Amino acid sequence: MESEHDVLLVGAGCAGMRAAIEAHDAGANVGVISKLHPTRSHSGAAEGGINAALGNAKEDSPEIHAFDTVKGSDYLGDQDAIEIFTREAPGDIYQLENWGAYFSRLDDGRLAQRPFGAAGSPRTVYAADITGHVLIQVLYEQLVKRDITVYEEYFAWKLVENDDRCQGVICWDLLNGGLHTVGGKTVVLATGGQGRIYRTTTNAYACTGDGAAMALRMGLPLKDMEFMQFHPTTLFPTGILLTEGCRGEGAYLINSEGERFMKRYAPNAMELASRDVVSRSEQTEIDAGRGINGSVMLDMRHLGAERIIERLPGSRELSMTFAGVDPIYDPVPVRPGAHYHMGGVETGNDGETELTGLYAAGEVACVSVHGANRLGGNSLMETITFGRRAGRAAAEWALSHTTIDVPRSVEADAERELRGLLDVSHGERPWQIRNDLGTSMLENFGVFRREDQMAKQIEIIDELRERYARGVVIEDKGDVFNSDLVQAIELGNMIDLAACMLQAGIARKESRGAHARPYDYPDRDDENFMQHSITRWVDDGPELSYKDVRYTKFDPMERTY
Ligand SMILES: Cc1cc2nc3c(=O)[nH]c(=O)nc-3n(C[C@H](O)[C@H](O)[C@H](O)COP(=O)(O)OP(=O)(O)OC[C@H]3O[C@@H](n4cnc5c(N)ncnc54)[C@H](O)[C@@H]3O)c2cc1C
Repeated sequence: MESEHDVLLVGAGCAGMRAAIEAHDAGANVGVISKLHPTRSHSGAAEGGINAALGNAKEDSPEIHAFDTVKGSDYLGDQDAIEIFTREAPGDIYQLENWGAYFSRLDDGRLAQRPFGAAGSPRTVYAADITGHVLIQVLYEQLVKRDITVYEEYFAWKLVENDDRCQGVICWDLLNGGLHTVGGKTVVLATGGQGRIYRTTTNAYACTGDGAAMALRMGLPLKDMEFMQFHPTTLFPTGILLTEGCRGEGAYLINSEGERFMKRYAPNAMELASRDVVSRSEQTEIDAGRGINGSVMLDMRHLGAERIIERLPGSRELSMTFAGVDPIYDPVPVRPGAHYHMGGVETGNDGETELTGLYAAGEVACVSVHGANRLGGNSLMETITFGRRAGRAAAEWALSHTTIDVPRSVEADAERELRGLLDVSHGERPWQIRNDLGTSMLENFGVFRREDQMAKQIEIIDELRERYARGVVIEDKGDVFNSDLVQAIELGNMIDLAACMLQAGIARKESRGAHARPYDYPDRDDENFMQHSITRWVDDGPELSYKDVRYTKFDPMERTY
């Protein structure tokens, strides 16, 4: 074993860094592993903002925030987790501000809050449209201030389980090559999402679901895997995100006839209906031939140059660079794109998993705050609030236990497996399988889901798994920055997670949140499916079961509060 810590974080995005800071402040010796430099983590790409019921723009309360979140989740969110989340969020925002997060402000000096989709009050705190960038810098500063050890450019490959608890992680050192084991009395997974399973996505290249796949292989349950959120405004043709903040500031969606079509789908909320509703409306327009090049248009012209430049400078720059359109003068082509995975490693409210010593927080986890559909701005907040809670719980457990033991045989097995991967000299290149996975997922498991397409996609994934298992050729046999090797491992993770998504998707015979089956099961079926799906890996394949949703005060049957 190379080194050991009380608490070992895997991932250095907002969730990982917030957890690391908390664990350190609780007295633990903390290490952070990240395949990227922390400030390059995907959280840095978050644009629009972070939700907390501060009530600065209009009356608001944690209870209203909780109700919006429950309703947005299509009643699949666990209400005890949601109540904790909305109650603790305001304190977490002030903590970030005290650490130096320079949020945008009202004229009277209080933090400004903008409206986001399906929110009963404007509650999204923001730093123009670079909120994630600001948060990631501030958290990294706090990491550096505390002198927390960061294993930069270490790729976490396998969790170590010994004596019925998680005791460390086996990593590939990207810079120098070689496998290294880092021990931890507790390990916190904070590896982010898995949007790269889709060809067009807002997610960074690194969002390949590694943490969820590692947990799955340890026999741990993944929850609600069928729920992938499609964001309504991703740029054509690249899939880069234009924040919901654009619509929050008043941008319209129009079709090829210049019609503001949301009035037909959500006459009250219009463009600020929840993301699943807006994405489905756009897709319906596009499928009905009222799109342009498979897109609809986001019109910001009426906001005026001054407001666009002040409030949405990043979105303007992205539009000009990647679509060749200046939103001050022209509408921008957008379409739904894979954005956020609501499912993940099942955790309790302190990030604890079924395996002693293993915790998870952030997008890799499913606690579940978002249920079947996440509200914009709730994810960054979840990374902070549940990152903090997981960091604290992991530290408390670690500080009350003493030993770390990683058997040499576990490391030897990993070495052998790695050699096996590198020794393959005949076969397919990983990128061919990756392309087929991304393209077919987009085609068969997108905004709208049909039984026949899902059945076909299950067959495709089986074939892809077979092709992968036959051995993919890693041409780079070297040690230094062997991205060929890492991408091959990431591909294996994504294929297995896709299999879990499809199995849970085809079994959910209803429409709920991001899972829309308008052709055979157009309605929500509370009687049979007001349940979380739970997926475990058994005998080389996913096995599905269900678990009750936890309710407190928001009655799903009455759908009122
Ligand atoms: C373009 C975009 C804009 C968004 N805007 C908003 C917004 O305005 N508001 C909002 O609430 N949400 C937003 N979201 C969602 C939100 O940003 C993410 O869900 C959240 O930032 C995820 O944070 P995280 O800490 O869980 O993961 P990430 O920030 O993705 O960090 C994952 C970390 O894990 C590391 N890692 C992964 N795999 C491995 C491995 N095998 N070994 C070692 N390290 C590994 C990575 O290096 C990284 O450090 C947005 C998402 C996108 C894609």
